[in-house]
Amino acid sequence: PTNDISLSTSKSKDLPHATTTDPDSYNMLQLINEEKEFNLKMSEYMKDRWKLYSNGFDFDVVAILGSQSTGKSTLLNALFKTDFDVLRQGKRQQTTKGIWMDRAENTNILVMDVEGTDGRERGEDQDFERKSALFSMAIAEVVIVNMWENMVGLYNGANMGLLKTVFEVNLLLFGRNREAKTLLYFVIRDHVSPTSTEILGSVVSKDLERIWSELSKPEEFANEKLFDYFDIRFTSLSHKLLQEEKFYEGVQEIWKDFTMPRSSGYVFRPEYKRKVPADGFSRYLETVWEKIVTNKELDLPTQQELLSQYRCDEILQSVLIPFTQSVDSIMAKIRSGDVINDLGSTMEKTVNITIEAFSEQASRYHKNVYTKKRNQLYETVIGELRKLFVSQIRNAIEKAASQYESKSLSLLDEIDIDSNISSLSDEPSGLKKGKTSSGILSFSSIVEDNRKAALDYLETVVKFSNVDSANWDYQEEIENLNKKLDKLTIELRGNSIQRMLQQLCDNRQEEFSGVISDILNSAPTNLWEQVLCAYIAQLQSMSYDVELLIESMGTRGLCNESNPDNSDPQSDSKAELNLIRARFRQLLFDLLFKICKEDLNDQMILYKLRNKFEEKFRYTPDGVPKIWSSSDDIDSRYNISKKDAINLLPLYSKIDFSCVQNNVELQSTLGNKAFFYPEEPIAISTPLNLKKYSRVNQLELISSIKQREIQKRAIKEIDMLFLDAKRSVVSRQSQ
Ligand code: GDP
Ligand code: MG
Repeated sequence: PTNDISLSTSKSKDLPHATTTDPDSYNMLQLINEEKEFNLKMSEYMKDRWKLYSNGFDFDVVAILGSQSTGKSTLLNALFKTDFDVLRQGKRQQTTKGIWMDRAENTNILVMDVEGTDGRERGEDQDFERKSALFSMAIAEVVIVNMWENMVGLYNGANMGLLKTVFEVNLLLFGRNREAKTLLYFVIRDHVSPTSTEILGSVVSKDLERIWSELSKPEEFANEKLFDYFDIRFTSLSHKLLQEEKFYEGVQEIWKDFTMPRSSGYVFRPEYKRKVPADGFSRYLETVWEKIVTNKELDLPTQQELLSQYRCDEILQSVLIPFTQSVDSIMAKIRSGDVINDLGSTMEKTVNITIEAFSEQASRYHKNVYTKKRNQLYETVIGELRKLFVSQIRNAIEKAASQYESKSLSLLDEIDIDSNISSLSDEPSGLKKGKTSSGILSFSSIVEDNRKAALDYLETVVKFSNVDSANWDYQEEIENLNKKLDKLTIELRGNSIQRMLQQLCDNRQEEFSGVISDILNSAPTNLWEQVLCAYIAQLQSMSYDVELLIESMGTRGLCNESNPDNSDPQSDSKAELNLIRARFRQLLFDLLFKICKEDLNDQMILYKLRNKFEEKFRYTPDGVPKIWSSSDDIDSRYNISKKDAINLLPLYSKIDFSCVQNNVELQSTLGNKAFFYPEEPIAISTPLNLKKYSRVNQLELISSIKQREIQKRAIKEIDMLFLDAKRSVVSRQSQ
């Protein structure tokens, strides 16, 4: 541990301004190290340390060039309150090589210090000098050139060699495009002679022009002037050690040039501005350095275009994150079945926020790249939002369809069949027009009104769900809804027809069952012939009502859209009519069966059998009650009557169709196969499915087991009557 402490103290001597050895504790960054590697922490420093990342173009870059140990770092630290490494007095050892960067206190100025460039003094190769000069020229608006007064006029000095390099690399960078000039800000140090700064400056200027003219320029730039590329300013500083106070006064003056935009000497003029926004700055430096270090041709416009693409992509991705989040949360709501009332305006806002967020950053980059990316972003965003639109419309279609169904159903329930029929028979020509003049609901009026409401609803939802600039088409959705409604209409219509036919039967049940009961009670030998004839008669009496009803339900034309393959709607609707009629015959037959079943329940049949027996046994053929005498053959009479009564059981046990063959009228109707079933299977899609009658099961009224049971009970009762009769004879004899 003691070792550690001594190590850290010795190190902190090398870094006079730093209070600790931890390189992360101060804001300075070694951008390029001795190995000429670029420090990728740069972007983090731009964001977190220097807080310039979101500054757009509102930041400036200054670099310093000059011979080794001419007090460059000292000047920068004095000027910008930075912490660059300064050679300790007395120890003529080199400070850490590389390129350093820091933000000047309370300004948006990034300061670049180049260390160890002066290879020629140490006899090293001048590679790093050239590379760092190139790098500085590429990114700095202002380059401070630091030189001692006693070097002024020494044309062959190290400074001039450096400046020659600067001019050369500058031609490389800006020869082809004059996108920016550079300010060379000369600071003449240790100005102790009485010679004025102006005179010193003019001497340096002459040297500069000489260097420029002697520069071997490419032919195309042969006539270019030094001042086409550079502006040049001169200032001087007193000797820092001998005239410290004056030195700092001079520094104060220079500070004004760098920080007071309204002063005439302000250095960061627009014509020096490099066209790289702060958020792309570190990436730009990285790619520029990469070119420099690999000795590739450095073409700044190309670098900037590449940067534009890179950054515009990055910015696009970054604005898509919050966008996707809000789309996801809206989608979750829609998935739960909601129809969101302000979807359109919400989406509109989202589009604007997203595009604006993108533009705010990306518009600083190349216009073409930016415009292209913005369009791409818009397409992406609109594409995603369209999914919301489609899902919302899907919900709306579901809602519209289910409301259509429930509203129609409840209205159809209200249709009063009898008043409908009576009003229909008054004005049969007005049937298909929906409501009859008497204001009675009709099927077609209900479904047409509700269809309109459903389509109106969808239109409304589309209106508040659409984004103006996209103006999505929704014809397909409307068609979709229409198809759904068609399907529902067919179902509603089928169910309504069935329900109405049922109602019609129910309304006539009492009347019909009276007729049937009479026949069953009298139990004639042609019982079933009479019952079936009564059934046919009932059908005929109701057929007019049925036809009216069918007509009031509209033609199948209502539903034709759902069946576009149908080539012959005429035969289709005829087939359907036949189907409906057959359905009615079945319903009425069901009713007949039900009436028979009820009329022949256990009690009723017992009663009927007993009645039959009594009729035969206790009454004379003229219908006079019989007084038994001892001469009467009670036994044989009992047997005959009993046989007659019991024989009723098999007669009642099933609806017997065998009589149909013998009856011409029945033969022509019931004998027809199509009477209960349509002749051919119907190709139309209709929910009027016919119940199949299996005659063996369905026509049976009393099972054989039941018959035996009833027979037993009947005989018991009959026997009681027989015994009563016997007893009455005995008692009369004994009187
Ligand atoms: P750099 O290598 O150009 O960055 O030079 P430094 O800033 O590290 O300074 C090198 C040496 O010059 C140090 O010993 C400083 O104390 C000294 N120095 C700094 N400023 C001045 C100055 O204005 N005049 C003189 N004569 N020496 C200075
Ligand atoms: Mg230095």
